[in-house]
Amino acid sequence: MPNVAPERARSAYPYPLLIKRLLEEGVARAPEQEIVYADRKRYRYRELAERVGRLASGLASLGVEPGDTVAVMDWDSHRYLECFFAVPMMGAVLHTVNVRLSPEQILYTINHAEDDVILVNGEFLPLLEKIWDRVEPGKRLVLLDDGAAPPETSLPLAAEYEALLAASDPAHTFGELDEEARATTFYTTGTTGLPKGVYFSHRQLVLHTMASRAALAGPGHGRFNEGDVYMPITPMFHVHAWGIPYVATVLGVKQVYPGRYVPDTLLELLHREKVTFSHCVPTILQMVLGSAGSKGVSLQGWKVIIGGAALPQALARQALDVGIDLYSGYGMSETCPVLTLAQLMPHMEAWPIERQVEVRTKTGRPIPLVQIRIVDDAMNDVPHDGKSAGEIVVRAPWLTQGYLKDPQASDALWAGGWLHTGDMAVIDDDGYLKITDRLKDVIKTGGEWVSSLEIEDLILKHPGVAEVAVIGVPDPKWTERPAAVVVVRAGHEVDEEQLKAQLRDYAARGVISRYAVPERVIFVEALPRTSVGKLDKKLLRARYAS
Ligand code: AMP
Repeated sequence: MPNVAPERARSAYPYPLLIKRLLEEGVARAPEQEIVYADRKRYRYRELAERVGRLASGLASLGVEPGDTVAVMDWDSHRYLECFFAVPMMGAVLHTVNVRLSPEQILYTINHAEDDVILVNGEFLPLLEKIWDRVEPGKRLVLLDDGAAPPETSLPLAAEYEALLAASDPAHTFGELDEEARATTFYTTGTTGLPKGVYFSHRQLVLHTMASRAALAGPGHGRFNEGDVYMPITPMFHVHAWGIPYVATVLGVKQVYPGRYVPDTLLELLHREKVTFSHCVPTILQMVLGSAGSKGVSLQGWKVIIGGAALPQALARQALDVGIDLYSGYGMSETCPVLTLAQLMPHMEAWPIERQVEVRTKTGRPIPLVQIRIVDDAMNDVPHDGKSAGEIVVRAPWLTQGYLKDPQASDALWAGGWLHTGDMAVIDDDGYLKITDRLKDVIKTGGEWVSSLEIEDLILKHPGVAEVAVIGVPDPKWTERPAAVVVVRAGHEVDEEQLKAQLRDYAARGVISRYAVPERVIFVEALPRTSVGKLDKKLLRARYAS
């Protein structure tokens, strides 16, 4: 048979997948729906559309053109949502600056991304003042001001956001763009050297929105549908708040943006605005649970996806006991981010809580269009038996093409044509992935892997342990041995022998291997964290290397 290519069925109209469609759909669906910014502003979707037009006209009047980069330094706000749309819709690139990085790292990202305009919350002016003499010249500043009086600053402000919008035309014409035009860029946390920039196109963000929406639709538990009230508690600078504001807008649901995360404020907004759907890292959930407990506020019926780090079983149980419907989600900066969700399958919803906890704390099953493999060093697939661990490598239509201006790291990220996550996982019979460790963080003792996350989970079951990090420390005989760095809960007493005995007990019961019991337990006042609140194990490993 001759090798004949199949006939092509090209669309009569080459429909580009553009971010502006997401806004148009949401506004048409729910023009009167509300958007709330803490206790500072409340308005409707039709006004969102108008303000997005004004913002684009205003930015154009400051000289922004397609291909330029507009940076934002803000806490979660309605303004940030407006930028999520206006900037890419103009054909410019939105740089969501991670304001939790150190000033030196922020300086690096502003110069590296070649920002043309920076929209900056008054709170960050002192930070910007410190680095301004090393910011490359020509960048224009727009003030985002929540205060009554404008802040004093030596910086050359080109405009104030509200004044700029008030003076600008709401009827901005957004032209058609190439769906592969770059829409956003941001930097991953700098645990390994300098921050690395990732970037996403309109097409990638639209497909990520649609696939996330599909994964969250339907009648099962933990879903996100019309009628829900959405409040992100993952910063908008961190992977576009997991891209869920785009999903919320397409759905036309009420959206609540909390500003800076203060547990009592979050709790008040949850209660007052009747929030039903959120996502956050475990640390934030812990804070909100603590605040709700001390104030006697009910969190019954709140649906929460936990990601960014493994969801400990003890924390999941605590949340489920107060009526929160929570489960894990997984992804990374490089993956836009969502890859998997750990919703229960329908037949599991009737299971007792203990069994549900096991599933809800897994890493999850791939959302539509995500291809996941777990592989060994030679890229061979390892068995999906719930025991054999391999590196997670992925393909999906929305993964970053590489790292900004870093071809070498980009090649390593995409070695063999699959994006390498650096995370180790097993896959069980039901297709759920469970991360057992991070490749960059894995503990290998006597040639065998030990999962630091699993040991942490077990140590956290001790009522006196507030926080723990298990790290690998060098050992002359076994190459590496696990050590546990522990923060004791106020008012409790825990000693090293107690914790080791608890773990030996799990080893005796076959839950973990004997060699997984930490060699040392180190008690500390607090654990170091990266700018996005993750445990800084790199620092801990360096600190306790000897
Ligand atoms: P980031 O790029 O900062 O979002 O970090 C992504 C990394 O966080 C992943 O590669 C994982 O190592 C970790 N991570 C994210 N979600 C989870 C999860 N559900 N369980 C365990 N680790 C996670």
